[in-house]
Amino acid sequence: MERIIVIGSGPAGLTAAIYAARANLRPLVLAGGLYGGQLMLTTDVENYPGFPEGILGPDLMTKLREQAERFGARILDVDAVSVDFTRSPLVVRTEEVEHDAKSVIVATGASARWLGIPGEEKLRGRGVSSCATCDGAFFKERHIVVVGGGDSAMEEALFLTRFGRRVTVVHRRESLRASKIMAERAHANPKVDFIWNTVVERVLGDEHVTGLRLRNLRDDSLYDFDCDALFVAIGHTPNTAVFRGQLDLDDLGYVRSPDGVSTSVEGVFVAGDVYDHRYRQAITAAGSGCKAAMDAEKYLEALEFAAPPLTAADL
Ligand code: NAP
Repeated sequence: MERIIVIGSGPAGLTAAIYAARANLRPLVLAGGLYGGQLMLTTDVENYPGFPEGILGPDLMTKLREQAERFGARILDVDAVSVDFTRSPLVVRTEEVEHDAKSVIVATGASARWLGIPGEEKLRGRGVSSCATCDGAFFKERHIVVVGGGDSAMEEALFLTRFGRRVTVVHRRESLRASKIMAERAHANPKVDFIWNTVVERVLGDEHVTGLRLRNLRDDSLYDFDCDALFVAIGHTPNTAVFRGQLDLDDLGYVRSPDGVSTSVEGVFVAGDVYDHRYRQAITAAGSGCKAAMDAEKYLEALEFAAPPLTAADL
């Protein structure tokens, strides 16, 4: 019987693991086949406090992992493939093993949606990004393209005007899906321009982004467009497939949490982007991992306190 199972190994999951391990709870972390979460896909992280020179995303995650292991967290690089939260103890299954647990911290994060076009993956971290807050500062005085027509795309485009000399929004329709206020702000910004009814078909460049191949959907024409960076802002998908039917999820699939820590199931706590689609930062995820571990610890304490005293038969 595990006292705490942490599912996920981004900043939220590993911070939860550090706190739970330091509380002597020996958490089991199911880190996923690809541990580390979204930061494994970024290069320099310049806004995580404590690293004045910046730190590479994968290096930060390695340090968090080592820190959790130092205090006794057991980390397995496997995915949770199903859960049963209707039972007590709670059940978490991997391909090979079924684990029973008194408490679970769900920290499976969200994944940025990508276009899935040639050049996109190859140039990720070299001009292709899904996070303006993370990577915008690398494109000072450059020409930046943002793809998408929702609030995220407008937010990214407006944020990027602080750095870029020009920000072009490429959208597949003739009007934006974004809220009126965000759309108005973007239209009013002299650095932002729009290319409508257009999709990106290929990212151009060998070492870094040099341009995009665009297709105008009206006349089907194809042309190359010079730019230095592509920010893809077509939404995120929370990694909650495993929890469907087990936890209360909102319409977008994010875990519902009344207080940002608890969930619809007693003993199951949540941390990071899997419920928080507002802030989506490594530091906010880490903070919520800390909160989840502290609440899980209190929950376990209360359970032990409430347990009937041992009898001779138990011994
Ligand atoms: P979203 O509203 O779903 O918008 C995604 C945009 O990407 C849409 O314009 C969509 O085009 C486009 N898109 C999707 N797949 C595409 C593809 N393969 N190729 C090209 N374009 C594609 O997602 P979001 O902007 O991330 O927002 C998600 C939620 O968070 C929304 O409820 C939003 O209001 C909220 N949010 C709020 C704020 C804020 O209030 N500050 C900031 C960010 C997000 P179509 O329009 O053609 O579907």
